[in-house]
Amino acid sequence: MIVLSTFAEVRAAATGRVGLVPTMGYLHDGHLALMSAARTDADTVVASLFVNPLQFGPEEDFARYPRDLERDTDLAVSAGVDILFVPEVEEMYPEPPRTGIVISDLTEHFEGAQRPGHFEGVALVVAKLFAGIQPHSSFFGNKDAQQLAVVRRLAADLSFPVDIVSVPTVREADGLALSSRNRFLSEAERLQARGLSRGLFAAADAVEAGERSGPELESIARHRAAEVGHLQLEYAALADAATVQPMPKLVADSFLAVAARVGETRLIDNVAFTVDGDEVVADRGTHLDGPSILEGA
Ligand code: AMP
Repeated sequence: MIVLSTFAEVRAAATGRVGLVPTMGYLHDGHLALMSAARTDADTVVASLFVNPLQFGPEEDFARYPRDLERDTDLAVSAGVDILFVPEVEEMYPEPPRTGIVISDLTEHFEGAQRPGHFEGVALVVAKLFAGIQPHSSFFGNKDAQQLAVVRRLAADLSFPVDIVSVPTVREADGLALSSRNRFLSEAERLQARGLSRGLFAAADAVEAGERSGPELESIARHRAAEVGHLQLEYAALADAATVQPMPKLVADSFLAVAARVGETRLIDNVAFTVDGDEVVADRGTHLDGPSILEGA
């Protein structure tokens, strides 16, 4: 594996079918799942590691976001990455950008509403990675379901010739979705954080038992989260998977998303639903057998 810091170097080194895995680093098993998916698809796997200042609000955790290049380098090697792209801010934004990308409607609710400007920052950095690296495929986690919809729309609207591939959410054995931010959780908060996935799984169980009402599923998720983790969810919402508009009844591919603050740390999670006639299949993601590389750290 080589570590490179400019787009030109990456384009010169990458050969054949190029698969890109964009990340903000502090890698965990969720990121590694994206990298293995890329490994099976691409000749050259490029993972980018960039904590993008543009997608953090002024009151958010940009400064304290976890960073550890040495650890990430070892993990990327173990995941079969060929090129680790670690640009400085000056490579990504040589000048303050005057170009903005607004993805309307899809960013109106949920994370878009809670984090003004967030998806504009995500869209710009992803567009720059696509333009600068020119990957054939790029890998994103279902964990960030609204982001996945936004990236799909960005690639389609701007005619980027890239396949967007989604990867199921990777979870700790007890259900907590992996996130670099989990390392901020105290032991007590770590237990409370289980409320998010427990709420979602209770709603998924209800779907499998025939429940289709959006408000009912949201209420099940809220109550279970409060029961397990004493968590007040910021939102619990059933949304159309492509348009990211609230869905009153589960009649098309969708996701039930939740967000909550656990102490100082803000966490999000979701369960995706695929509709096939009267059948609805819930995707709860994949559970690790033992502690993740984050918990083992
Ligand atoms: P981040 O470093 O948090 O910006 O995430 C980089 C990529 O990893 C995004 O496509 C995320 O959706 C994905 N990702 C984050 N957490 C998980 C997870 N637990 N399982 C699968 N993918 C994830």
